Amino acid sequence: MAERIKTDLCVIGAGSGGLVVAAAAAAFGVPVVLIEKGRMGGECLNTGCVPSKALIAAAKRARSIAEAAAFGITAQPIAVDFGRVHAHVHEAIAAIAPNDSRERFTGLGVRVIEGAARFKNKRTVAVGEAIEIRARRFVIATGSSPALPPIPGLDTAPHLTNETVFDLAICPAHLIVIGAGPVGLELAQAFRRLGAEVTVVEAAAPLAHEDPECAEVVLDQLEREGIAIRSGVAVARVNSADSKIEAVLAGTSGEETIEGTHLLVATGRRPNLDGLGLDRARIKHGPKGIIVDKGLRTSNRRVYAIGDAAGGPQFTHAASYHAGLVIRSALFRLPVRVEEEAIPRVTFTDPEQGRILGATIVGAGAGELIATWVLAISRGLNIRAFAGIVVPYPTLAEIGKRAAITYLTPRLTSPWVRRIIGFLRRLG
Ligand SMILES: Cc1cc2nc3c(=O)[nH]c(=O)nc-3n(C[C@H](O)[C@H](O)[C@H](O)COP(=O)(O)OP(=O)(O)OC[C@H]3O[C@@H](n4cnc5c(N)ncnc54)[C@H](O)[C@@H]3O)c2cc1C
Repeated sequence: MAERIKTDLCVIGAGSGGLVVAAAAAAFGVPVVLIEKGRMGGECLNTGCVPSKALIAAAKRARSIAEAAAFGITAQPIAVDFGRVHAHVHEAIAAIAPNDSRERFTGLGVRVIEGAARFKNKRTVAVGEAIEIRARRFVIATGSSPALPPIPGLDTAPHLTNETVFDLAICPAHLIVIGAGPVGLELAQAFRRLGAEVTVVEAAAPLAHEDPECAEVVLDQLEREGIAIRSGVAVARVNSADSKIEAVLAGTSGEETIEGTHLLVATGRRPNLDGLGLDRARIKHGPKGIIVDKGLRTSNRRVYAIGDAAGGPQFTHAASYHAGLVIRSALFRLPVRVEEEAIPRVTFTDPEQGRILGATIVGAGAGELIATWVLAISRGLNIRAFAGIVVPYPTLAEIGKRAAITYLTPRLTSPWVRRIIGFLRRLG
């Protein structure tokens, strides 16, 4: 007979969103069950942010050495030991893993169950045949997976995604990347800097969700570093033979074949909803994810959905933000509302890109600099607040102040302001 567990909160998925909900609930003394079918830590730790940023960090070191001559410093020809780079990436994961581990969460008072969760009805979730969980509230935090485009030949050709690319222990001689979004371009630049020839193919425009002027700055830099970017051209089919991979491009003037050694597919994400039994629990969903209201509740009022599975911005900080809102709503019954415009995003190419409502930063350190703007927007500060602050010179932080002053200058010199100044002067 199945073990029947009664609990206050049942969280499905131990990634960026689910872990935050479970840890916070346990800290408040709320009985919580956390179900994970794969690796604790989810995508961010195992196949997303952590390995990609570790790889990018190694690539940045290689680039700095290559650029050092401009500062009068010359190094020996750069030698990349890709096996060591691979080890460094996995050491970064291993260093963080204890924080997200089953042991840590069990110690916090969370009941951690390994296995795939599926709804049996509106308020019961099963894991295999052995466990059934009945909870007051459920949180679905099942994340997303790489979406593979229907390119003929792709299913049989060897290809990498973010789930496998960090397992490479040798640097590809020629990496073909399909997809010029943030993931494709971050990895393209990292592999290029570590010694690979890289060609990126994008059917639409590269970094299509970004401000075109800022995207241009990034794309220019990538091309200067030797990455070939083919945009507005679709891959018609993929062939593979003798450890070679061919991407056949369908251009207006006929077909063109690009030959590489490895293929990376980075063409977007699809929410992990398969096998969850959402219909049995009356939870509405669509191709982008589970349908939620502004308070992250699904069509089943007992169930919330957060993070990538909820179809909004797909970032770790968005999943954690959602988690915080769900805690307030589910535990304290407070009204909550997702403010998507306050969720920033950074593409970790060099230079980065990051945008909050009305502000985009492109350049070195953009990911750090955006934080002040997020604070300003979330606190409703006027841009004058930036113009008035004293920032140390010379620092990158001055950029925000400069931008504010540039924005305000036309207003300060308007005839209306000049008239006020004239009036005050006449008063003596
Ligand atoms: C290469 C790459 C780089 C990235 N870099 C960044 C970055 O720098 N910054 C950033 O903010 N974001 C980044 N992201 C995005 C970030 O990884 C995700 O947005 C984040 O992990 C989503 O968190 P989540 O909790 O929704 O899902 P996940 O972290 O994916 O966790 C979902 C968990 O649910 C489990 N699960 C799924 N179905 C079930 C089931 N039925 N039963 C039990 N468990 C289940 C999965 O195994 C998984 O562990 C990156 C993504 C990629 C691919």
